[in-house]
Amino acid sequence: MTKITANVPLLDGVFDIEINGDEIVAVNPSSFKTELYAGPVLFDIQVNGYGGKSLWGMTDDNADALSEINNMFVQQGVGLWIPTVITDTHEALLQSFRSIAKALDADSELEKSIPGLHLEGPYISKVDGPRGVHKLDCVRPANWNEFVQYQEASGGRIRYITLAPEVDGNIDFIKKCVESGVIVAIGHSDLDRESMNRAVEAGVTLSTHLGNGAHNMIQRHNNYIWYQLASRKTFAAFISDGQHLPSECLTSMIHAKGLERSVITSDCVDLGGMPAGVYGDVEKLPNGRLVATGTPNLAGSSSNLRECVEQVVNLTDLSHAQGWTLASIQSAKAVGLPDKLGIEVGKEASITVYKRPDNDYKIDVVETWVAGKRLFAK
Ligand SMILES: [Zn+2]
Repeated sequence: MTKITANVPLLDGVFDIEINGDEIVAVNPSSFKTELYAGPVLFDIQVNGYGGKSLWGMTDDNADALSEINNMFVQQGVGLWIPTVITDTHEALLQSFRSIAKALDADSELEKSIPGLHLEGPYISKVDGPRGVHKLDCVRPANWNEFVQYQEASGGRIRYITLAPEVDGNIDFIKKCVESGVIVAIGHSDLDRESMNRAVEAGVTLSTHLGNGAHNMIQRHNNYIWYQLASRKTFAAFISDGQHLPSECLTSMIHAKGLERSVITSDCVDLGGMPAGVYGDVEKLPNGRLVATGTPNLAGSSSNLRECVEQVVNLTDLSHAQGWTLASIQSAKAVGLPDKLGIEVGKEASITVYKRPDNDYKIDVVETWVAGKRLFAK
């Protein structure tokens, strides 16, 4: 039995949290005074890389990136995360899933931090803007047989897929995914109202990085951002790194969607956690912004999820507890794990312990626990 005594913003007081095995077995009010805080561990549902390690084009030779990223993430209070495999050739996608599966099969502790994988593309829009930086020549209509091969190669780990419902044949594909237990998200999509309605009917339950992977200019009233914000049947993930969505936009979008349907994610790439400088085609500016070298054009996110929690509190009217919830309990709900996280008896003992310097939005991580094990201690 282990006990953590800390302020729990979600419960608004100081509590003794008792852990036995991988579970929280007791949560009791405490009269102890402490500068420590605790919340459900941060859970990033969209990660492309971090600390110089990329998850794109994975092979057996670089599959140790998973454990290296995990080691860096737990230092940031991020104990759960979902690696993202993006649009590529059929062979490259198969190879990525095989290599990731091999690495996870060999490390049952690492697998506790990675409760699934995300396939982003290749069944997305070919249209410039919505497509973002996904390789045009690899974008294609959904193909169930192909997807089944990816799912097999991954050992059944593909937890969710991001696609464009408006592409021919994709509605039937959504139904098959949902029947097989895979969560379907709208993203890199140019959908109209009818496609939105059909997608929701077919079982779509999430929007990936809403407000990004979009045109610079859209019709003001009838557009895919409003359709997705208005849906009461879907969650939406927002990148709150302070670069992808300006403060007013982030505030408005989260409130329009509703806190109970919103999630924040980093969508971070390999330059996260790296010093500023020019890295070939991409430049990391001193403020953390990633741009295509020599241009003002955004080229991905370099923030980790702890920084995204800080920014959502800094840039919007959300409280610290609300911001934290969007990056932990809400993440788990959005990817079909509603019972996993919380500071409650019976939840997984996955907890971040931290300090709040100056009681401001900044978070200083002290310990990270995943399924009853302390993976990081400062
Ligand atoms: Zn994307």
